[in-house]
Amino acid sequence: MDNLLGKIISFAKRRGFVFQSSDIYGGFASCYDFGPLGVLMKRNIKESWFFEMTRIQDNIVGLDSAILMSPKVWEASGHLTAGFADELVECKKCHRRFRKDLLEDKICACKGELTEPRKFNLMMKTFAGPVEDVAAVTYLRAETCQGIYMNFLNVIQAMRLKLPFGIAQIGKSFRNEITPKDFIFRTREFEQMEMQWFCRPEEADKFFDFWLEQRLNWYYSLGINKKNLKTYEVPKKELAHYAKRAVDILYKFPFGWKEIEGVHNRGDWDLSNHSKHSNKDLKYEDFFPHVIETSAGADRSLLAFLCEAYQEIEGGRTETTESTKEKEIMLNLSKTLAPIKVAVLPLVKNKEEVVKKAREVFNLLKKDMACQYDESGSIGRRYRRQDEIGTPNCLTIDFDSLKNDDVTVRDRNTMKQERVKIKDLPAKLC
Ligand code: ATP
Repeated sequence: MDNLLGKIISFAKRRGFVFQSSDIYGGFASCYDFGPLGVLMKRNIKESWFFEMTRIQDNIVGLDSAILMSPKVWEASGHLTAGFADELVECKKCHRRFRKDLLEDKICACKGELTEPRKFNLMMKTFAGPVEDVAAVTYLRAETCQGIYMNFLNVIQAMRLKLPFGIAQIGKSFRNEITPKDFIFRTREFEQMEMQWFCRPEEADKFFDFWLEQRLNWYYSLGINKKNLKTYEVPKKELAHYAKRAVDILYKFPFGWKEIEGVHNRGDWDLSNHSKHSNKDLKYEDFFPHVIETSAGADRSLLAFLCEAYQEIEGGRTETTESTKEKEIMLNLSKTLAPIKVAVLPLVKNKEEVVKKAREVFNLLKKDMACQYDESGSIGRRYRRQDEIGTPNCLTIDFDSLKNDDVTVRDRNTMKQERVKIKDLPAKLC
């Protein structure tokens, strides 16, 4: 395993970002739980995406459709046929199975010979209702966008939308991946953030370029360095069954350049197929709109943001005489993504007035932002703990605070400190 990824995995567990699922039973392969800080960070990612789509961009509305749908949806979309399948090879010696395109060389770890590839469908099957027979078979959705097509007419009618417009949705998707790996990068249950942009066919190319640029800017605005992001035009012969054109957005993970988002031109594949199979007219005026899709993974982007932000500082930072000279970890997360925005730290915990003042400050701020109150350990250690989880600011309440109604505001990156009046804190920190 890559050394940096290994460090991030153990850091994510130690500081409550990501845990292995079913840990006390030895874990459940490829499933992960988001801990107290992970859930806050993931929420920040999703909120930033939803805000960008439905508030900053024009003419995009939100949706939250069901995970379970009629199996007819998946027949019409082509997901039950070879179109949504990976090529699987099996080692004749150890019988482990691999996804052919992800196998770097043609021999597996035990050096056994591999079988000829065969198609393996990725849909996760389940039963709806009390009878487990063929009629009750349905599927956990493999992409959130099908729920958007199902509601195309409902949304147009309810919201009186005119082309071009978009529908944005965040939710869980499931794929029976042959080789889940690289921590939360490839799992069987994951969250997607997808936006379908419906437009006139002749405008599809223009909007493809527009959305690709918007999506790159979103990652930059949240702290991803330009040199760690690149695009990859998917060659025609590798396109998914529904796509006319696809560009992947790749991030430079510790284990190589990998996709975090796809921008796809789906043409009229989905609306025309659903129209045919359902006998419902999904045309707009007298034509099927074309669809530009932006399809991002919330878990994959969280991993990318963690990799980007994770820093180890050898010898520690020389802020206080208490500096341990040990290696220190700092998460250089953007303010938007940081799970905790502000830590409130009374200088001492055994002076009632100082603690009371610190509590007052905490109560003042907690309604506006995620705050943490921490009074245990030396002030230097408390700063270190906050730097580790990416908290942009620490507030220290000391004896002068009692006289002047102010606090010390410390900046995570510069370690600079300034005195700020308590009444000015909400405006300064928001
Ligand atoms: P890959 O080639 O890595 O399997 P894909 O091209 O099949 O990915 P899409 O169908 O385009 O992926 O899905 C859009 C996004 O959903 C991906 O860019 C990724 O962020 C996320 N995603 C897809 N599959 C997984 C998975 N198994 N685990 C985590 N995230 C995923």
